[in-house]
Amino acid sequence: MKVLICGAGIAGLASAHWLARAGHEVTLVENWSGPRRGGVAIDVRGAALEVVREMGVVDEIIRGRVPTEDVYHFLDRSGREQACFTPATQFYDSPGDIEISRDRLLDILERAVPSQVDVRYDTTIVRVEGGVHLSDGTTHEPDLLVGADGTHSTVRKAVFGPEQRFAHHLGLYVAIVKHCAAGAGLSGSHVYNTPGRMVMLRGDGTDCSALLGFRAAPLTYDFRDLTAQRRLVREAFADESGWLVPEVLAELGTPDFYFDSVAQIRMPTWSHDHTVLVGDAGYCASFFSGMGTSLALIGAATLARSLSAHADLPTALRAYDSAMRPVVTSAHTLADGGADILFPTDVEARNAQLRAAVS
Ligand SMILES: Cc1cc2nc3c(=O)[nH]c(=O)nc-3n(C[C@H](O)[C@H](O)[C@H](O)COP(=O)(O)OP(=O)(O)OC[C@H]3O[C@@H](n4cnc5c(N)ncnc54)[C@H](O)[C@@H]3O)c2cc1C
Repeated sequence: MKVLICGAGIAGLASAHWLARAGHEVTLVENWSGPRRGGVAIDVRGAALEVVREMGVVDEIIRGRVPTEDVYHFLDRSGREQACFTPATQFYDSPGDIEISRDRLLDILERAVPSQVDVRYDTTIVRVEGGVHLSDGTTHEPDLLVGADGTHSTVRKAVFGPEQRFAHHLGLYVAIVKHCAAGAGLSGSHVYNTPGRMVMLRGDGTDCSALLGFRAAPLTYDFRDLTAQRRLVREAFADESGWLVPEVLAELGTPDFYFDSVAQIRMPTWSHDHTVLVGDAGYCASFFSGMGTSLALIGAATLARSLSAHADLPTALRAYDSAMRPVVTSAHTLADGGADILFPTDVEARNAQLRAAVS
């Protein structure tokens, strides 16, 4: 079968691996000049561990893991600790789960794409109408179009309808600054809050990333315009001079700056005719679930298995849908709760609650 995959993130790279391995003729397009880098540590959990084991990359992933045992220090505006907690013992991690830097996982998955896959970077889908028209001027008539192009999926928009129909905004926005000099030398996660806003510096003693987040109703902005996104973050923190916030804001210009809404994609079905969605494009669980990467890995393997088990495409895509539905539903429920701790509207009450929990 001829397969065209749009997006070379976790879902797209894993789909390329599994579908090429199953004997399909795969083309993979990505609109950046390589897998789009950025982001901090992400998790490979539960059934996704079995997927990476079957892909033959589990040892590399284990070697690249970062420690999951982490202490969050909640600070006041002069940097004095007010409360702390250890999520590994208070949330939902199980002992086998792996936390790894997103860039490192992308490198591992990119190497796991079989050489026969036709990989086209700097290429995107221009139109899906009378074939799939790519920005490199070629037109394809794939037997299966796989949308693995993330939360703001072009494939989903072209085939299923506008993003607003499926995106459920969870009231928050998050930005990431990697290699943040303002946090040089810090270890662990250091968090400064004002009501509805958070700046976190997360370091390992040598390197540090900054996460900035704020509560807001849905904002209108261009998903590809990083300059406009930096402006939104600066505006959200314009009146903030506490702790190291001005120093962190001064580093927003970094090229691997990342910004997105915290949202879930909820869809009644992930396939239509010859198109199917995998990963965030179909079922983004949001930053707070800790399950986005695992869902993408499980989704890619499940799609390949469903296609191998059923010669008839509609039956195979229904089987993919049925197998993924309970996994996605359960991951979506994990997103509840984290925001109250990291983005409290009443900072003092949150601190008191955390102090009481450890005493
Ligand atoms: C830069 C970045 C940083 C992230 N950082 C974090 C993080 O720190 N923590 C976290 O929990 N999650 C983060 N995420 C989200 C996380 O990667 C996903 O939730 C999860 O890994 C599932 O991945 P995905 O492949 O479905 O989607 P994504 O990781 O979003 O990958 C989608 C890919 O499709 C490409 N693409 C998009 N549109 C098109 C198009 N029209 N044509 C061609 N290609 C297209 C994108 O460039 C990207 O490479 C980040 C995502 C990105 C893109």
